[in-house]
Amino acid sequence: MFHYDRGLKITRGDLAVDFKRRAPRAFVSHAHNDHMARHMLALCTPTTGQLYQLRLGARDVLELPFRTPLEWGGLRLTTFPAGHCWGSAMLLAEDGDQSLLYTGDFKLVPSATSELAELPRADILVLESTYGDPQYRFAPRAELVGQLIDVVRKALTDGRTPVIEAYALGKAQEVTKLLTDHGIPVLQSKAVYEVSCVYEKCGMKLGNFRLFENVPLDGHAVVAPPGMHRGAGLQGVRRPTRIAVTGWALDPASRRRTGFDHAVPLSDHADFGELLEAVERVGAREIYCTHGPESFVDELRNRGFNAFRLGKVPATTRLLF
Ligand SMILES: [Zn+2]
Repeated sequence: MFHYDRGLKITRGDLAVDFKRRAPRAFVSHAHNDHMARHMLALCTPTTGQLYQLRLGARDVLELPFRTPLEWGGLRLTTFPAGHCWGSAMLLAEDGDQSLLYTGDFKLVPSATSELAELPRADILVLESTYGDPQYRFAPRAELVGQLIDVVRKALTDGRTPVIEAYALGKAQEVTKLLTDHGIPVLQSKAVYEVSCVYEKCGMKLGNFRLFENVPLDGHAVVAPPGMHRGAGLQGVRRPTRIAVTGWALDPASRRRTGFDHAVPLSDHADFGELLEAVERVGAREIYCTHGPESFVDELRNRGFNAFRLGKVPATTRLLF
C-alpha cells in the first residue's frame, strides 16, 4: 500500500506524504518546514493551505477539510485533526483492502490553539514518535500553563521584559493565547505576527496581541522565535527574562546549553505515554515509527506490537506491503 522513497509514499495515487523535497503530488500534514516543500500540488486542510502559502508563496492546493473523504486515484483520503497546531492533520488512506493512518506530528492532550486530535482505527499506523523515550512524560498541561504564567508575571513585577521564545508557527500562537487569556497583552515579532494573522483569519482568535515594533510596552510580554533576542529582529528589549517553551526542557543537557532563565516543557508533540495511547487506540497490525529514538520500536515490540522503523524494514517483511 505504501513504500519508502526517502519519505513515505502511498503507492496507489503516487502520493508523497510530508516530503521535504518537491513532489508532483504531496500531502502536507502541517506547515512546519521539516514537513513541506514547493510541491506542484499540495493536499492539505484549508488552514494548512493558508500557512503553507504564507511560507512558500502562492501555490496549487487541493483542500482536504477534516472528516471529508476524497476519492483519489483508487484511494479514499480523509483528514483528521492531529492536535499539533491549528489545522494540522492526520491522513487516513483506504484502498478498499486495507487502511493506513499517518499521524504526522500530533498531540493528544488538548491545547489552547489546536483542534482536539482524533484517532481513527487503521490496519497500518505510521507514527511520529519524537518523544519516544520514557524520560519524556509531561506534567499535566494546566500545571505547565501555571508555570508559564507565574514566570511571566514575576518578570513583569520585577520590571523586566518577559521574552518567550517559541516556534513561530503553533507554539507561539498557543503561548500568545494562554497569556492574553490571563490578561497579559502580547507583542509579537514579525514572523510570529504573520502566522497569527492567518490563525485569526482561519477562525482562531488570539486575544490582545500586536506587532512588536522595537518598543517594549509596560505590562506586555514579547513572543518571538528561538534565538531572535540576539538578532536584529528584536531590538529595544531591555532587561529580558528569557523563557523557552519546549518539550526539550525536560532534557537536562539541552537545558544547560540554551542559557534560558526559565524553560517550560509545554510541548506540541505527544509524550511517551500519549504515543503508547495512540498505538492502543489505532489498533494497527503493523506500526512504522518516524522520528524519535530507535529504542521506541524495541519498546513497542517488547509490548507485543508488530513495530518497525520506517525506511528500515527487514527484507523478509518487505513483501507484505
Ligand atoms: Zn511540526
